[in-house]
Amino acid sequence: IVKFQDVHKSFGDVKVLKGIDLEIKPAEKVAVIGPSGSGKTTIIRMLMTLEEPTAGDIIVGDQNLWKMEKNGNMIEANDKHLREIRGDIGMVFQHFNLFPHMTILENCMTAPIHVKKESKESARKHSIEMLEKVGLGDKLDNYPSQLSGGQKQRVAMARALVMRPKVMLFDEVTSALDPELVGEVLEVIRDIAKDGEMAMILVTHEMDFALDVADKVLFLDEGVIAEQGTASDVIEHSKNERLQSFLKRFR
Ligand code: ATP
Repeated sequence: IVKFQDVHKSFGDVKVLKGIDLEIKPAEKVAVIGPSGSGKTTIIRMLMTLEEPTAGDIIVGDQNLWKMEKNGNMIEANDKHLREIRGDIGMVFQHFNLFPHMTILENCMTAPIHVKKESKESARKHSIEMLEKVGLGDKLDNYPSQLSGGQKQRVAMARALVMRPKVMLFDEVTSALDPELVGEVLEVIRDIAKDGEMAMILVTHEMDFALDVADKVLFLDEGVIAEQGTASDVIEHSKNERLQSFLKRFR
């Protein structure tokens, strides 16, 4: 469903991604691990179409998102298409980015109504379903400030799920949480993963969780995919020295 072919990204003189090739199949669950600054968030932002590559191809479905002009600048291959793609991709961030002045039900209903033009009735029904799924069916009329960090993160997930994305991106969604709240959020992600149909890409430092949920793990190091394979191959059996020293920090 998503393909990167020799994707490079620089910010000014800083080369952040140096030739990334990856393919994500429908329903595949992929964890991305790697040291700080290795380019994980940059990959996620490119998947979200928020950032264009400096070179290379990003293909979603069978469409190339960007094309290079004669002067070397990348431009959107097809503006309308990019907007449609965004609708297929859901994202949950480290900081929850909820609207503080809306109840959690309203937070979930906004995008289906305004972006997908769903009726209020249907957006409401589906939002309640998703909030129940993440265990917040009894908090519909609460405001974000009345919730714990873990609960806020679960609202953020329900809000993304309501859009019925084909791909969900999770960027270090537990790293801003108090340790005792991490479990409940991972539990909800496990639950969503079990449902099956959606592809999921998870940037995470939770290795046990990656072992449990991911079909495939990518180890990103200094802008390249230094190792990839099944979760067990990468996390438990890799001989790559930089990966081993990275993993030591989590034991
Ligand atoms: P972390 O685990 O700390 O979030 P990361 O692996 O997600 O790190 P990125 O956030 O992708 O890493 O950043 C990779 C590098 O790119 C960093 O050195 C960062 O400073 C740089 N970078 C990212 N975005 C920009 C930008 N908009 N302008 C300039 N440099 C940037």
